[in-house]
Amino acid sequence: MNLIENLLTLHRVDSQVRALRTRVTSAKVYFDAQERQLALLDKQKLELETQIKQLKAVLHGLELDQTTAQERVEKLRAELNTSTNDRQYKAVLNEMKVLENQKDDVVKRAVEEMNRVEETQRRLEVHAATIVERTKVRELAKAKLDECMKDVGERLAELESERTRAADLVPDRERKVFDKVAEETEGEAMAEVTIVDLRHREFACGACNIEVPFETYAKLSSSGNSLIQCKACTRILFLQESSKAGAMSEKEKAEKPKRAKATAAVNTSGGLEQDSPEAIARDKAKFEKTRKL
Ligand SMILES: [Zn+2]
Repeated sequence: MNLIENLLTLHRVDSQVRALRTRVTSAKVYFDAQERQLALLDKQKLELETQIKQLKAVLHGLELDQTTAQERVEKLRAELNTSTNDRQYKAVLNEMKVLENQKDDVVKRAVEEMNRVEETQRRLEVHAATIVERTKVRELAKAKLDECMKDVGERLAELESERTRAADLVPDRERKVFDKVAEETEGEAMAEVTIVDLRHREFACGACNIEVPFETYAKLSSSGNSLIQCKACTRILFLQESSKAGAMSEKEKAEKPKRAKATAAVNTSGGLEQDSPEAIARDKAKFEKTRKL
């Protein structure tokens, strides 16, 4: 096998390895996303729990305030009964009034705080239900990842050693070029040269469509051992067997006398259709001749 054939084999195996790795990677990415989301939900749950604790502490403080105020009011009431003069009586009564007002305030605040505790507790319940749901999703993602690893693992190991064998058949320098391009193009290292117009010697890179010079086509035709990269997208260019003038020339060399006669006959008669296989073969033969000049 020549260099281009070896590169194409390497490319085929390399693509399979990449496809399998991508499967594992996407399963892993999905699972990791679920893990992150659950971690975030857990953190939020903790925050809500802390909030509830703090609210309850505030509520407890208010209840203590209320008890203290109540005790003071009762004490004052007793003082009121034993007060000896009007001034003292009024002062006690005044303080009692202030305390009663304060008590109302405290009760109002306590009710508010209680509502907030209840509201936060409801949020926590919803949150906990979300966590249960997301945990199920995470478990599914984990099962999928495990299954994927199991499925792919063996095949990937096989393919990777196949890739190593294919890579061993390609010389160092060319293999480095292949690896670099494959990395840059996500496994699309090879590009077929397409014939745009054989008659006008127009060729293009099958991947990026940029023009490929006739010289490149000619070189690839004559030898399967030239590594030529597309000037634009850097992919390694190759010719399909059917597009090769070189492959034809081998055959033609053997049939040279016959071909010369046939060509002459065609040329004089001019009876062939423009795009008939004979016409294309004739064109290719012409290029072959031009190329050798
Ligand atoms: Zn290109």
